Amino acid sequence: MAEKIPSISKINELFQNKEMKPSELFEQVYETASYTESVLHAHLELFYDEGLKLSKESDKRYKKNESLGLLDGIPIAIKDNINIYGYKTTCSSKMLSNYVSPYDATVVTSLKKAGTIFTGKTNLDEFAMGSSTENSAYGPTKNPWNPDFVPGGSSGGSAAVVSAGSAVASLGSDTGGSIRQPASFCGVVGFKPTYGTVSRYGLIAFASSLDQIGPITNTVDDTRIIFNEIQGYDSKDATSITPVYTKLENKKIKVGILKELMQEGVSNESQNEVNKVVNQLREKGHDVTEISLPLTEMALSVYYLIAPAECSANLSRFDGVRYGIREDASTSYEMMNKTRSVGFGEEVKKRILLGTYALSAGYFDEYYGRALKVRSKIITDFKTAFDKVDFILSPTTPTPAFGFGEKTKNPLEMYLSDLCTIPANLAGLPAISIPTGLSENNLPLSVQIMGKPCSDYSLIDFAESIEEMVEFNSSPNLLKENSES
Ligand code: GLN
Repeated sequence: MAEKIPSISKINELFQNKEMKPSELFEQVYETASYTESVLHAHLELFYDEGLKLSKESDKRYKKNESLGLLDGIPIAIKDNINIYGYKTTCSSKMLSNYVSPYDATVVTSLKKAGTIFTGKTNLDEFAMGSSTENSAYGPTKNPWNPDFVPGGSSGGSAAVVSAGSAVASLGSDTGGSIRQPASFCGVVGFKPTYGTVSRYGLIAFASSLDQIGPITNTVDDTRIIFNEIQGYDSKDATSITPVYTKLENKKIKVGILKELMQEGVSNESQNEVNKVVNQLREKGHDVTEISLPLTEMALSVYYLIAPAECSANLSRFDGVRYGIREDASTSYEMMNKTRSVGFGEEVKKRILLGTYALSAGYFDEYYGRALKVRSKIITDFKTAFDKVDFILSPTTPTPAFGFGEKTKNPLEMYLSDLCTIPANLAGLPAISIPTGLSENNLPLSVQIMGKPCSDYSLIDFAESIEEMVEFNSSPNLLKENSES
């Protein structure tokens, strides 16, 4: 009896008017999970008992008209690289297969205070390295629109659960596109906030200068509601900022189409979605022009030096001593060696090697140092561009979802699927992906909007106007098949 889940505001209205109880909604999403999970494998763990208990407490609050706000009683799934006290955080790695978190991530504390109910932990590419969730040590997640296709990654589980209706929303993490790309492949909304606006405390670090937590939701308004709850300064995160959000005064919006993401390497189907939106924006009287940022063509290369470099440092803490598994051996060196050989998968090892190489004494300047220089230039170029336009529009991904195994043989092909999303991470910009249509083979396509730092709320407002314009109302086959039965 799967039904498309209403928006968070609508659910809250149903709760307030006593037309539905949080525990009923929890049972509904859990029931959906109980049949979708056998196909999708999107959750690594489901929290049924605690979820039900907490949703009943929420029932009581609504009964007494003492609800904690819009998120009270809303079932939300959490990517399994974000810590929840007392539960495992595996990062989809064998290395952390036995790691139970001794504390809550700040985003988790905020959501708990707001009364949300956690449905469980979602699958990802090991340590968030990948674009298809095929790198999980616990097996891949499937795409709810067609289980022969990947859900994207690394937050593939978080995108699939929202698309399949086994959670109202989820949290993901985005280092090079891992919220937006899977959101796009699964036909839902994915938002990477301005770097520093959402605390990373309690997110297992991949590449700290790029990592950002953000929501995956059914609607742009749901994104606004969750972002509102999780954003803000946190003294526990050294890179946290006190955001001063910019507002858009002008009704006529200036939009730049990024030329470098509308050419060879990006499919016609993906480009057409942008063109469709551009036509509608022009009809509404907005000012749309083409802009060129030539250095964005180097973003992928820059990312694949900076991200592995940072990951090689961050993952050195998994040494068999402090966290996770330990292999037996007669010397400590051998123990670390064995633990890391057994604990990490192929892709993670590849990135550690790449990063260690790029940081090594003889090559530091040539690779890592140079990548940092180009990164600063990319940041400056975006700054200049945002003097002329309010937002930058592009496809979210070069193609719709691809099939299992299609890109695993060729890592460069896989890396290319983040072509459009990586620039926003390098420059710390907020960026949102919204579904706009379906491909020829019935898979979702999206557009991405990037804004200047701290324009998060106006970016969300603009994205909402596009969401209304394109009226994307399709839902995955999985949902349809089950609602017909
Ligand atoms: N797919 C990119 C990578 O593998 C981005 C991952 C991410 O954003 N976590 O590095």
